[in-house]
Order: sequence, then C-alpha cells, then structure tokens
Amino acid sequence: MSVKIPTSVIQCLNYVNGNFQKASGPKIEVRSPYNGDLIGEVHATTAGEVDTAVKQAAKAQESWALLPIKERSKVMFLFRQILLRDVDEIAHLKSSESGKTFAEGKAGLLKGIEVLEYALSLQNMDVGGKMEVSRGVSCEYRREPLGVVAGITPFNFPAMVPLWTIPIALTLGNAYVWKPSEKTPLTSMKIADSLKEAGLPDGLFQVLHGGVETVEAIVDHPLVKAIGFVGSTRAARAVYERGTQKFKRVLALGGAKNHIVLLPDASPDLAGPGISDSFTGCAGQRCMAASVLLAVGDVTPHIQKIVEKARSLTLGKDMGAIITASQVEFLREAINQAEKEGAKILLDGRKTPPPAGLEKGNWIGPTIIDYVKPASAIAKVELFGPVLCIIRCEDISQAMTIENSIPYGNACSVFTANGGLAEKVISRASAGMVGVNVGVPVPREPFSFGGVNASKFGHGDITGAQSLDFWSNVKKVTIKWEKQEDSNWMS
Ligand code: NAD
Repeated sequence: MSVKIPTSVIQCLNYVNGNFQKASGPKIEVRSPYNGDLIGEVHATTAGEVDTAVKQAAKAQESWALLPIKERSKVMFLFRQILLRDVDEIAHLKSSESGKTFAEGKAGLLKGIEVLEYALSLQNMDVGGKMEVSRGVSCEYRREPLGVVAGITPFNFPAMVPLWTIPIALTLGNAYVWKPSEKTPLTSMKIADSLKEAGLPDGLFQVLHGGVETVEAIVDHPLVKAIGFVGSTRAARAVYERGTQKFKRVLALGGAKNHIVLLPDASPDLAGPGISDSFTGCAGQRCMAASVLLAVGDVTPHIQKIVEKARSLTLGKDMGAIITASQVEFLREAINQAEKEGAKILLDGRKTPPPAGLEKGNWIGPTIIDYVKPASAIAKVELFGPVLCIIRCEDISQAMTIENSIPYGNACSVFTANGGLAEKVISRASAGMVGVNVGVPVPREPFSFGGVNASKFGHGDITGAQSLDFWSNVKKVTIKWEKQEDSNWMS
C-alpha cells in the first residue's frame, strides 16, 4: 500500500494537561521525505512553558502514584486497543513524516505495542519479594515511581521508540514528559489522543515540541527525575553529561555502525535476503541496520544474492525515502569518496531514478560498495542510509579486529552454518545485540534492547526487566511488630 501523504499543513501542537496547545517558541517546518511538501508546522516550547508543564505533571503524578498497578494497567490496556484499532492511520502518518514504507510504519508500531504488552504484564509479574528473615521480622521490596520522568526521541521511529518507554514509565506510576523529534512530530498528537481516549488522567502525559533548547530545559528541570534519550551519539553524550551533572538518572542510547560477518559455509538463501533487508530496511535509517559486511574467504554466491535482492527493490514501494535532502547529499558524498579511494561499486543507488511523481523527495537507491578499506571514512562513520560496504577479510580474527575497532556497539551478526564459528563471533563482538543468521538482531520482548560503548551512555537497557529499575526506585522495607522471646541479633 502506498503511503498517504497529508495534502494540507497539519498544525502540530503541544499536549499539556489534557489539551492541545501551541507553544510560543520559533516555528519549525515539517516536510515529507516522500515529496518535499510542507506537511506540518510545529513551535518550540520555551523554558517557561516547560516549567509549567512539568509542574502540572508533578501534581497529576501524586494521585496516579496512589493507584494500584492493576488500575493503572487498565488505562494501558485500553491504550493498546486504540493503537491496534488505528494502526493503519498511525502507520500512514508516521511513514509520511519519516519516509518509511507503509509496511515498515505498521511493523514499527506493532513492535512498540509489543513493549506496551510487556508493561501490561507487570501487574502479574513484578510482584516484588517478601520473606521472614528472622523470627517476627520480615523484609520486602516495594517498587515506587520516581515522579516526573522524560523521554527524548529521534526521527526514525516516531511511535516505536517512544513506546519503548511511555507504557512502562506510566504503568510504574510516573508522569511522562515527551519531546519528540522536531523532524517527525506529527505522530505524537495521535499518541496523545489515544492516551486521552484510554482514560489517562490529564497532566500525566505532556508532549513538548522543540529542539535542543527545549531538551535542555527539560533535562535541567529540578522536578524531572530521570531521562530516557534515544538519538545520535553526539546528542546522547550531551544529554547524558548534562543530566548526570545534575545528579539525574540518564539512559542515553546513541548511534551505531553495525557489522555482519559472512562466512563461506553460510546458506546463500539465508544470507542474501537477510543481509540485503538489513541494510535496505527503513532505507538504512535504523540503528540496527547493517553497514559493513565483513566478507571472510570466498563468498561470491552470497554477495551475488545480496546484490540481486537489493537490485530488485522499487523505490517508493519496497524502500522508502531519506529524512532530509542534506542527508541524501551526505550519502552521495560518502559514496563518491569511497569510489575515489578505489572501492568498487557493485550497485549504485546514486543512479536510481526517484519514483514517478515524487521527484522532489529525498531519494537514493540501495548501494553496495566492495573492496572498502577498513581505514576509509565510509567504513567508520555512521551513514544512516541504504549503503553496504564490503570489507574483504582473510579470517574471522581479522574480521573481529575490524569490528572491535569501531567505537559504537549496537549490533553485530554472523551468517554461518557452523555453531562453533558462530560462538567465536558472539563472544568477540563488541556489540550489545548479536545475531546468528539474522540480519537485524533486535531482541523480541521480554528480551531487552540496548547496545554498549558509544551506542549507550548509562547502565541497563531501555526495555525489559532492567528498565524497571531505571523508571522506579526499589524500597527495602524491614518490619517487626512484636518482640519475640527467642530473639537473635536481628530481632
Ligand atoms: P538526533 O540526535 O539528531 O536527535 C534525537 C533527539 O535529540 C531529537 O529529539 C533532537 O531534538 C534531540 N537533540 C538533537 N541534538 C541535541 C543536543 N545537542 N542536545 C540535546 N538534544 C538534542 O538523532 P536523529 O537524527 O533524530 O536520529 C538518528 C540517530 O538516532 C542515529 O544516530 C541513530 O543511530 C540513532 N538511533 C539510535 C537508536 C538506539 O536504540 N541506539 C534508535 C534509533 C535511532
């Protein structure tokens, strides 16, 4: 299905205390990557407006925290039903602003809903622990919300990445302040609307639009106790430093440069489409996309299959658009430079024509570059586009040395038929998420999501069991009601 692009300009508003309202900061334009058309306008939130919204959230959180988790979960259950009911509408909206295909927009939302379902399971699963530790004395764990927490999200998953944190943080009894990407703010209104319809009390979910200054005002606000950030490494580091200097809890996920190790014994039928889909899915604009193929030995049939699959994709139908025209320019320049350095272009996306009628959009086709040198810039920097560099390696050891030399650490996969060789890659990979014969090793719930090194600042993962301790405090309570006759040191 082709993406429905808004034909009139959507006024994208903040959502504060249950009402949509315009912020008073500078205007930011939202253009569809598909055709370059102006599809939305949004205003940045000033520090004063952040202050008002955070204070209202803190007030609303006081009564929300008093509700049992089962009551809070009822709202989240309805939220899930509404998102599923409106899945197509949301998929069209998020795809039109981010450049995804409709199928990708839908898949991202469904993955976000899976995290929401994890949050729903907490009412039955996260029951804490209690034990009689001595005669007449018990110890127990009690999970308590933090108060107001914040989420700052990137352009590439306008619904999925926010859904990594919103349902868990709210279910645990917090109020949530969200600053969506200024490049893809439109989807946020639909999410706010859905939470309102689900019955979430006003003030608990505040959406504040804007750029860096709005982020800084949120991070600096004394009532914001924890910040979950997802975006580039540069911004993740800045937010982590700023927040932790103020002694806040910060988990900041950054950029990536992901490798796939391809061994000659791998099935070409698994490797071909698996690797092609990894670097072309979401037009390469996902932090788990393959960027470098470490080709060990003779893998000619596999590479042929990768090229074949990537060549078969139709722009605008099977592969979406790039977020901005300047990002297309950046990708073109990176490919030009690699070519100048002597690399061989196996598939040249610079020459792929844009889809008919969408000539003003931001397009580049799948590109595969062979014989890239490990030291060249294209092998090291995050590209965030549908470009696969192939580095030829003599053995696994050389491949892993290259993989280990990159500061990022999100994903690494190996394609092989040999379990022992796969284990070698798993144990040596400097990545938080590793795949075997899987091109995009995103763990499914309840397994958590998170990288290492320059792909993540802070401890723990953003989803799954570890995220619970990020969005809450665990109080340890020791209780004694009566003096016991046969007492020991504890009693
Ligand atoms: P970005 O860093 O430009 O923006 C992300 C968010 O941070 C936005 O809301 C933006 O307003 C804000 N921001 C930007 N610069 C900032 C600064 N200096 N200080 C404070 N806030 C700032 O990222 P993007 O272009 O929207 O998204 C693409 C990047 O996100 C890629 O690097 C990609 O790898 C990364 N990403 C990582 C993950 C992950 O799980 N590790 C997931 C998705 C995307």
